[in-house]
Amino acid sequence: MLFFRKKNLTPVKIQLLPSTFDASGRATQEQRLSCYLIDDTVAIDAGSIAIALSDEQHRTVRDIIITHPHMDHIASLPIFIDDLFGFLENPIRIHATEEVIDILERDVFNWAIYPRFSELKNDRGPVMEYLPFKTGVEFKVAHLKITAVNVNHIVPTVGMIISDEKTTLAFSSDTAETEEFWQLVNRTPRIDALLIEASFPDSLASLAEASRHFTPASLNRELTKLNHKGMDILTVHLKPAYRDTVVKELKALGIPKLEVMEIGHAYEW
Ligand SMILES: [Zn+2]
Ligand SMILES: [Zn+2]
Repeated sequence: MLFFRKKNLTPVKIQLLPSTFDASGRATQEQRLSCYLIDDTVAIDAGSIAIALSDEQHRTVRDIIITHPHMDHIASLPIFIDDLFGFLENPIRIHATEEVIDILERDVFNWAIYPRFSELKNDRGPVMEYLPFKTGVEFKVAHLKITAVNVNHIVPTVGMIISDEKTTLAFSSDTAETEEFWQLVNRTPRIDALLIEASFPDSLASLAEASRHFTPASLNRELTKLNHKGMDILTVHLKPAYRDTVVKELKALGIPKLEVMEIGHAYEW
């Protein structure tokens, strides 16, 4: 029996954008770059943002959260801003920690690799602005509430919880064994889906450890820290060269509701 009716809430939509296309222009399932698009408006990381958005999405994406400055996560960010330079009514908003912003300014938007867009304007005003966030403190991006925490990667990197009024997602970004992320996930009342990385096959465990990534075996151990049950678990960031092996090893774990995130597919919760 229904005693009250909930507001008619729309689901959250998330899409892992393609990185590469075959000869006939179809997206391949190889993830070379990282860019997750939420509700056609907010991007998490920007690896393939300039090459894989639709024309409509080019008009609607104005907020980009950068988890860390590795090339596969920022590769086409400068090109995206360049493409939009003359058309922007408002600046592209880059959300990142101060540490990550400093690296972007020093090593990417430094006038040598690419122009410092944070200092440039078109006819209507600035084209890019930084909105720094602090780890452990909730912040808003468009219609989403985000809390980010440090994870265990080679450079300053955050994982995060993303929620609107209806749905909550957790995203690890690139990481090896980590603690704060699980504390954040476990104290969140409900998680609808967990996006977590599984980069290398088990045979490359030492490389995974050195570069701070998971293999299926280390991910399996890590998931014992997760208290919530029953959510969808989507694995991401499989290195294209070892994809088939990683897919087999992930399947062999037999974890309920765990699957490899399909590139290009719009998931909704
Ligand atoms: Zn990385
Ligand atoms: Zn990466």
